[in-house]
Amino acid sequence: VGNAPNALESRIFQRVRASGGRVTAPKRAVVAALAASDRHLTAEDLAERAADALPGIAPSTVYRVLANLEDAGVVEHVHNGREPAFYHLRDRGHAHLVCNRCGAIIDIPDDLFTGLRATIRRRYGFTIEPHHAALLGRCAACRETH
Ligand SMILES: [Zn+2]
Ligand SMILES: [Zn+2]
Ligand SMILES: [Zn+2]
Repeated sequence: VGNAPNALESRIFQRVRASGGRVTAPKRAVVAALAASDRHLTAEDLAERAADALPGIAPSTVYRVLANLEDAGVVEHVHNGREPAFYHLRDRGHAHLVCNRCGAIIDIPDDLFTGLRATIRRRYGFTIEPHHAALLGRCAACRETH
């Protein structure tokens, strides 16, 4: 893995700059760690991975960088009902199903929420954020063995 940012990372840094933020070495390390993985990484996971690229980076720095990147609109966190939240690049954002029993995580597309979003908005004047928290339940395997 080289140090040159790929197209996705470059786009993200452009947006960070456009929102008035600076692109620092810790930000590069965190964005690179997010871009390199499609797994569901917590702030702690990201602190470990960022330290591979930037030895000695403090976890507190990584947490601050994550908050910063969220403010810039390029990162989002996902509550999942059991662990600490995990993080995605906003460009790759999506909704989640999380199994209460085994912790399996299933990524699901936004279009599933189209009708629900409109109905809830109309009836309650409420705007749902499907990416922000997972839907909790039972996965197929756990349902069968129970
Ligand atoms: Zn399960
Ligand atoms: Zn996901
Ligand atoms: Zn939240």
